[in-house]
Amino acid sequence: MFPVAKNSVLTSVFGIAWEQVIHVHVWLGHVVLLVAALHMVCWWRVYDEQASFPGDIMQVPMWFPQNSPDCEQTGNNRHCFVEYHAMPGVYPNSDNFTIQLAFCSTICLFLLTGIFARFSVRRRNYELFYYLHHIFLVVFIVALLHAASSWYFLIAGLSLWFFDRCIRTYRRSGHWDVVDIRAVADGSVTRLELCPASRLPSKQSSPPSFKFCCGQYLYLNIPAVAPHEWHPFTISSAPSDGIVTCHIKAAPTGPLDSTFTGRLAILARELGDTPDRGQNLLVNVDGPYGAHVDPGQYKELLLLAGGIGVTPIHSIFREAKVLLRIGQARCRKIHLVWAVMTRTMLDPFLDTLQDALHDDLDGRLQISIYVDGERDLTAPVSGEKLTFHGVPFSVGRVNPEPHIKDLTPGQTSHVFVCGPPGLAATADLVSLQHGVSFHKEVFAF
Ligand SMILES: Cc1cc2nc3c(=O)[nH]c(=O)nc-3n(C[C@H](O)[C@H](O)[C@H](O)COP(=O)(O)OP(=O)(O)OC[C@H]3O[C@@H](n4cnc5c(N)ncnc54)[C@H](O)[C@@H]3O)c2cc1C
Repeated sequence: MFPVAKNSVLTSVFGIAWEQVIHVHVWLGHVVLLVAALHMVCWWRVYDEQASFPGDIMQVPMWFPQNSPDCEQTGNNRHCFVEYHAMPGVYPNSDNFTIQLAFCSTICLFLLTGIFARFSVRRRNYELFYYLHHIFLVVFIVALLHAASSWYFLIAGLSLWFFDRCIRTYRRSGHWDVVDIRAVADGSVTRLELCPASRLPSKQSSPPSFKFCCGQYLYLNIPAVAPHEWHPFTISSAPSDGIVTCHIKAAPTGPLDSTFTGRLAILARELGDTPDRGQNLLVNVDGPYGAHVDPGQYKELLLLAGGIGVTPIHSIFREAKVLLRIGQARCRKIHLVWAVMTRTMLDPFLDTLQDALHDDLDGRLQISIYVDGERDLTAPVSGEKLTFHGVPFSVGRVNPEPHIKDLTPGQTSHVFVCGPPGLAATADLVSLQHGVSFHKEVFAF
């Protein structure tokens, strides 16, 4: 549990975000399962030597450890135990039910984590995976009953978990208001603007009690959409914007009303343009979480986004522009490359794009947009770019290679990618070959 506590001294000390060490949690989980399995198998071997296998696995009372003391003295002679069990008036009499309890809970642990935590299952049934994963609480309680001294090993992890839960419960109890909720990009994206409740009157200023960094995300719970679900969404605004926005795309995993993001999109469409839309909508917030990205520390920065993966990049780009303008960034160049399926996807971020085209800070800001999902759209033969509300774009798939190779090799050039796995994998490989630093964000745990 060390690596998955979202608020943990360990991750704070090492300066990393909890999701960056999930693989350690998975690895440790495998070790625990392996050790538990070995522990069981070793004891079954002892039962077998004493002729009480497999009966002792599930029977209460059981033979072990009150089995024949005489046979034990003769060197655990299995034949002796068999004869002892057959004696009239001799019955299993060891009343340690915690062994059977431990066996059952371990089997549940194997099944629930082994099946529901698998990537393919988790992708399709995240909530099921999440709640069933709490089987660990049962296993820990049973472990304490089964072997009281196990608290040495459990206390650190359980304390951390409890501490983390307390912080999250406290954070989640804080009330937030919806400043605005709007369906954008032809209704496929919901723009949500949030504000800590007590700060609502001063909409123009940044909520002082809420600080976040570029690239961080929030867990949102919207009871009107799904009372028991918490979903992570990146803050798409920049810290210097003084507002908190999320852009939430309906997940393409089924009918619109079967997913959280789909139902939110329906709600946003229904609320339409009414002036007080969202005022009665309750949103619970937990966060911010995630790695801290400092856009000012690189000389050359390539921001590579695919689809809704633009949200952290939008935040970084806007913040970097402000830092450049006030002379607090060392960047010579910031290049935003964004691939979208349809032009309407550009809608929610048009302000930022147009603003950067209008004032590119002496050529230090660059934008390349690719539209690759509109069949009836063809690139002009002249090689000129088409435009969407004044924003030029190319037709076709983005190839990250020339953009990465345009950077000066070295650790002061950085590639930040958020998008589909294929795009991230290509960018990762080319960045490695070209010798520039690389970071990818994935919208999946
Ligand atoms: C760190 C992070 C930042 C994200 N930022 C954005 C963003 O800015 N904009 C945006 O549109 N989307 C973002 N996402 C993706 C968004 O969280 C999922 O699309 C959403 O949770 C899907 O839930 P659903 O019920 O609508 O769809 P489902 O069909 O239930 O799920 C679709 C996918 O999302 C995963 N998922 C579902 N619930 C959760 C959960 N509670 N936690 C983690 N993964 C889950 C599923 O495993 C599946 O792969 C982000 C995800 C992560 C992990």
